[in-house]
Amino acid sequence: MRTPSAATRVAAVIGDPVSHSLSPALHNAAFSALGLDWVYVAFHVAAGEGAAAVAAMRTLGLAGLSVTMPHKSDVAAAVDRLRPTAARLGVANTVGWAPGAAGDLLEAESTDGGGFLDALKGDTGFDPAGRACLVLGAGGAARSVVLALADAGADSVTVAARRPGAAEPVAALAGGAGAVVAAADSGALAGAIGGADLVVNATPVGMQAGDGLPFDLDGGLFGSRHLVADLIYVPATTPLVAEARARGATTVNGLGMLIHQAARQVEMWTGRPAPLEAMSAAALRAIAHD
Ligand code: NAP
Repeated sequence: MRTPSAATRVAAVIGDPVSHSLSPALHNAAFSALGLDWVYVAFHVAAGEGAAAVAAMRTLGLAGLSVTMPHKSDVAAAVDRLRPTAARLGVANTVGWAPGAAGDLLEAESTDGGGFLDALKGDTGFDPAGRACLVLGAGGAARSVVLALADAGADSVTVAARRPGAAEPVAALAGGAGAVVAAADSGALAGAIGGADLVVNATPVGMQAGDGLPFDLDGGLFGSRHLVADLIYVPATTPLVAEARARGATTVNGLGMLIHQAARQVEMWTGRPAPLEAMSAAALRAIAHD
């Protein structure tokens, strides 16, 4: 990285917590590979201060902002304009500048779902069009993934959650393709897995040592017809990924999504194609050092 000067543009991630974010490694590698005099830092911003951080972005002239928990809704409400995906989700993970009639505006987008699809396509060639998809979990990541799969033409997007009431609005993002399965209904869940082409883990189950499969799923339900995508990337091989792979399924972890959602941010801020190889290498180095 070049030494910052008075001309250096600054981009940042805000979150709480934020100190373990891989975003500085990814984005600084991107700026360096693009030959840009930009630097990317992490700001710890306490819950409830997301709108203040957007105001600070205006004051300080930050070039771009990545947004992580718990600020995604507050930031979406504080910018001048939302791109369509952020508007439909009501959350944003990216803020950048866009020309407006009366000068530049702060515009926000959610790149998680698009990044997920980019990663699946890049890593496996998977195209959701006409396919049956099952998403485990009904939180923020599930919402992004469900909307992206439906927009990409999935035939069905079923959401399985331990609280079916939480799954309903998530499945609704998929319109007529959306459906809900209660995780406690093991027969219905087994049927949904049996009929799925793609199974996505959007729960945190698998991150902690000693975790099993989400919803204590039977690994024997997976087979060679399945693509299993775990959004977790540490550990690189979760129990779900290990079980599914052992049964012949194609598997991916969440690292590709992390890289591609960041790549979309780089493209939004700089207007340049993101240097994916440099970003992937930086992510792997950062995980190895963590
Ligand atoms: P979130 O908003 O907190 O949602 C978590 C979901 O998982 C909720 O539906 C929650 O259900 C469910 N859940 C939590 N613990 C569970 C358990 N023990 N058993 C069954 N279900 C459980 O979190 P998120 O932001 O969506 O993130 C979900 C996962 O995706 C995390 O592992 C996160 O690291 C990963 N992620 C990865 C990327 C990437 O770039 N690769 C991006 C975003 C997220 P309740 O509501 O009932 O608690």
